Amino acid sequence: MVKARSPQVALCVLVAAGFLVAAASDDDPYTQDRREMVRRQIQARGIKDQRVLEALRRVPRHRFVPADLLRIAYQDSPLPIDYGQTISQPYIVARMTELLEPKAEHRILEVGTGSGYQAAVLSELVKEVYTIEIIPQLGESAAKRLTDLGYRNITTKVGDGYFGWPQKAPFDGIIVTAAATDIPPPLVEQLAPVGRMVIPVGSPDQTQLLKLVTKNPDGPPTVRTLDPVRFVPLRRSP
Ligand code: SAH
Repeated sequence: MVKARSPQVALCVLVAAGFLVAAASDDDPYTQDRREMVRRQIQARGIKDQRVLEALRRVPRHRFVPADLLRIAYQDSPLPIDYGQTISQPYIVARMTELLEPKAEHRILEVGTGSGYQAAVLSELVKEVYTIEIIPQLGESAAKRLTDLGYRNITTKVGDGYFGWPQKAPFDGIIVTAAATDIPPPLVEQLAPVGRMVIPVGSPDQTQLLKLVTKNPDGPPTVRTLDPVRFVPLRRSP
């Protein structure tokens, strides 16, 4: 004979079942890793913009790295992605993003989509992100990844970002995530008045210097030289 369960036992079963459902729906086991990443790698090195810090806490970096590197997705370094390219170190992403001074109403251009991670960080902060990648397979996989993750304000394109995206210009900010040998004039041209561009400049096989270019309404742009950095080269289309 089956005994009727007491109400207390039934209640416990219900509570346990509810807990399991809640645990199963929390599909991001890396939330804590991201908080630690922001605290130890980014705030500790002086990044203060609260919106930038929050964006870095939100974007699931582990979804942008190759599957075999999942466990080290939040470590303090760049990581290889396909085709010999890299996803930048989290601190560099934060530093370059903060230098852009992103505002909610901004439209930003990124040159060098790579994994799509930097574009995702920007998409949390501004109205529209445009991003160009020269390697078609990388551009296409990043576009799919960003759509799958639900980013709706990012427009991707495969092409040579040296020439920018004139049809979508002017941009409030431009970020170049590959090392250029010079500051591409078409990008300066496509900056809005008082717009800012962050770009690593220097020779591909050496340390480069991060430059902040500010477009002035009258007169030539101001160029400030900032941190030494190391990026993969900005390629030129044949
Ligand atoms: N921002 C990326 C990392 C970029 S690695 C991320 O968050 O993952 C630099 C990328 O720039 C590479 O994918 C490389 O293929 C791309 N690239 C190099 N030259 C380019 C060019 N001329 N135009 C557009 N993309 C370029």
